[in-house]
Amino acid sequence: MSDQNLEIMTATHHKTKPDPETLEFGKTFTDHMFIMDYSIDHGWHSPRIIPYQPLTLDPAAMIYHYGQTVFEGLKAYRTDDERILLFRPDQNFKRLNRSSDRLSIPDIDPELVIEYLSELLKLDKEWIPTYEGTSLYIRPFIIATEPNLSVAPSATYKFMIILSPVGSYYKEGIAPVGIYVEDEYTRAALGGTGTAKTAGNYSAAYKAQDKATAHGQAQVLWLDSSEKKYIEEVGSMNVFFKIDGEIITPALSGSILEGVTRKSIIELLNSWDMPVSERKLSIDEVLLAIEENRLEEAFGTGTAAVISPIGELSWKGKQSLINNRETGPLATKLYETLTGIQKGKQPDPFNWTHEVK
Ligand SMILES: *Cc1c(COP(=O)(O)O)cnc(C)c1O
Repeated sequence: MSDQNLEIMTATHHKTKPDPETLEFGKTFTDHMFIMDYSIDHGWHSPRIIPYQPLTLDPAAMIYHYGQTVFEGLKAYRTDDERILLFRPDQNFKRLNRSSDRLSIPDIDPELVIEYLSELLKLDKEWIPTYEGTSLYIRPFIIATEPNLSVAPSATYKFMIILSPVGSYYKEGIAPVGIYVEDEYTRAALGGTGTAKTAGNYSAAYKAQDKATAHGQAQVLWLDSSEKKYIEEVGSMNVFFKIDGEIITPALSGSILEGVTRKSIIELLNSWDMPVSERKLSIDEVLLAIEENRLEEAFGTGTAAVISPIGELSWKGKQSLINNRETGPLATKLYETLTGIQKGKQPDPFNWTHEVK
């Protein structure tokens, strides 16, 4: 077995599990965590599962100064017959390596890491909530740890995985949100780090999110950085529109994060003979389609919410409703199919689920 040298130190104290009905996103963590270290001489080494605990780092650790870090986000589900299912974990760890490559961080072995993650999940299995709509959110991440103020890649890193039980995104069923089209700040530029899941992309979006909130909208719709004309993403989700029967998602332009949910939806729709146009889509085209009643549906896609229908668009002080602020049939069908596959309640013709054994 390739996990031979995985060391497991179990927690002697077990925390009380939160009430699954009032779970909030990312605020409680399980009893254990996974950690391994990297050095130039030894590569990734000393994989271990330890009780969940704080880290001690030198104040000069490079992560604190230049943000050399990457992360991932995926979910584990516990089925009615007590199996643990992951959704396309290989995709997440391959993407982690692509993010790492952009940030000059050494890559990990996705297969080996999925084995380590599996051991962690088995140990904290009781933390996977079973209540309708809940799951265990998995946050793998890497940080630069060398104490050195030079502006250069770190010589040492830590890779960690922490687990957080999360509640149903939709307490009262899947509900459309309003979005604010951002025309001042941008999320990512060509040649920048938009295609990587790296810390700075997210903290740099807070100002725009504040504006959206101040305008009474839930999320930001990001336009491209050079022309502020083409749609890129919504919040931390990819985005789809249905106009005149055509299903459109912005093409991977070099500044869009390639979502696993986005990819899965495209594959699912293809299998239903509903091809998706991956192309440039301007905000003007969308506004005109709304005006002429040709915009049928719009929704964001990502691991956290799976599908998040868009019910309203706010642009330069003007609000337009989409599909009368109702969830459309396509969003509903995609949500039910994807979550059905993820929870093992529907056939999985694509072999997307990975059972933890
Ligand atoms: C994570 C993320 C997504 C969605 O990716 P999934 O793999 O579907 O969860 C989309 N956009 C951004 C900016 C993201 O960080």
